[in-house]
Amino acid sequence: MVAVTTPSSRPLGCTFLGAPPSSIFTVSDFVGDENLMIEAAEDFSRKEILTRLEEIDRQEPGLMPRLIREAGALGLCGVDAPEAYGGLGLSKNLAARILEMMSLNGSFSVTYGITSGISQVGLTLFGTEGQKQRFLPSLTSGESIGAYALSEPNSGSDALSATTRADLRDGKWILNGTKMWISNAQWADLFLVMAKIDGQQFSAFLVPKDAPGVSISREEHKMGLKGSSTARLILENADIPAENLLHEPGKGHQVAFNALNIGRFKLASMSVGPTRHAIEIAAAYAADRKQFGQSIASFGLIQQKFRKMRAWYHAAESMIYRTGALIDEAFEQDGGTVDGNRKAAEEYAVECSICKVFSTEAQSWITDEALQVFGGYGFTEEFPIARHYRDARVSRIYEGTNEINRLFISDRFRRRVQAGLATLGTGDSFVAECAVEGLKIDRTDQETLGAQSDLLILAYAEQSVRLRDVREHDATLIPFFNARAAEALQSLTGAPVALPGV
Ligand SMILES: Cc1cc2nc3c(=O)[nH]c(=O)nc-3n(C[C@H](O)[C@H](O)[C@H](O)COP(=O)(O)OP(=O)(O)OC[C@H]3O[C@@H](n4cnc5c(N)ncnc54)[C@H](O)[C@@H]3O)c2cc1C
Repeated sequence: MVAVTTPSSRPLGCTFLGAPPSSIFTVSDFVGDENLMIEAAEDFSRKEILTRLEEIDRQEPGLMPRLIREAGALGLCGVDAPEAYGGLGLSKNLAARILEMMSLNGSFSVTYGITSGISQVGLTLFGTEGQKQRFLPSLTSGESIGAYALSEPNSGSDALSATTRADLRDGKWILNGTKMWISNAQWADLFLVMAKIDGQQFSAFLVPKDAPGVSISREEHKMGLKGSSTARLILENADIPAENLLHEPGKGHQVAFNALNIGRFKLASMSVGPTRHAIEIAAAYAADRKQFGQSIASFGLIQQKFRKMRAWYHAAESMIYRTGALIDEAFEQDGGTVDGNRKAAEEYAVECSICKVFSTEAQSWITDEALQVFGGYGFTEEFPIARHYRDARVSRIYEGTNEINRLFISDRFRRRVQAGLATLGTGDSFVAECAVEGLKIDRTDQETLGAQSDLLILAYAEQSVRLRDVREHDATLIPFFNARAAEALQSLTGAPVALPGV
């Protein structure tokens, strides 16, 4: 499926600086039936979602659960879930492309993304056979909706400081606490809840919405994603059967963080999906709008915006499908076992974070430029671009803020180099050379870790674009990547860095 040169028979994460591949998987490598599934998802988005944006934003009663059921009827709610539990068992990469097409609107995207993604991943990777049989089929069919409840009012980035507790009484788990910002809260039938047993052992629980002591607060008044449900989950002596503990006591961090690794990869697709639509509507507007007696699409500065927007989209897309293929290859080589899948999700945690940070920042930048094309009309709610602009902002905040992801990327990368699991190499381009030099600096202050992560993100992005070899985009992106890499290295060393060809 994909040609990747790696130093071992099993592809390893964090090896992209030391052993750059000779080619990568790109979207043109999807074949036959795969493309039919992708088209079905795009068709669903355009016909069922983009035609109902006002109703979705008003949270018209019953509408979102119905749309999820309809998506489920088409097989779209469990595309990468195992077939034994009603899923289609498709590859992570194909699931990513389908998710991108299902994400042309942010509110539907987050609802669909959570129920078909992060709420199923924990169950698939860590559930017992009985738990999977009981909960997965209705999630994969779209008959029920899932939610993931980690955050609390006083524990966001510092997730392990959660205070929601679980106590075993008379053979049942009694949960107490408040979970904050829970996507899908209003519609969810099943919550994956992180709580500490006896206030100490961080653990994961499957909490049905109709369990005694479970309630949902009012909807948060959000600046964007108005059609998605975000509310608090209140647990007041919530009474959960003993068999609803997921995985082992005290190992909830494995469930939470493995789900987040794949969740970050999926969020990258959920971020480029709306940008695809933002560019599309900006292009239609530019062709239509006339100033100075001609279409604004004929002006050089407007054309330059579209070249840059497409180039950024192209880079994000190249990184996502390269990473998805690596994860799929690791899944296949480990025999598709649950244990192997856990290892693969862990192996590519850095690449998943890189995709999350790059794609969400590309989304912010692209939607901002797309809005600029609309001029003053873009600043009104009369035109659909304002919705994309508002919706985009949260992508840099959830699934780990981009600051937390930046701290993680370089820290994990350096640890793998120190453990001999990755090498720095010499760098196969100016950006990669800067990254190699920057990674040699042995300081652990946050500013150093942040600049090193920037270099790793740029190196992965530049390599992905270069390997895809589309000259038009190279001309726009490579000089930009070079300049950003020189700036990041200079911030680390304090010495000026000469740009190639300048
Ligand atoms: C619309 C929406 C939907 C959400 N959906 C869900 C969901 O379904 N389930 C769920 O569990 N959560 C969900 N969240 C919560 C989300 O994951 C958190 O908001 C996020 O993790 C950040 O936590 P916080 O808001 O408490 O910010 P804080 O952690 O308080 O961070 C505030 C600022 O400080 C920075 N910061 C924090 N710690 C550090 C550090 N060590 N070093 C440097 N900078 C730092 C952050 O990057 C940020 O800029 C959602 C949030 C929103 C807005």
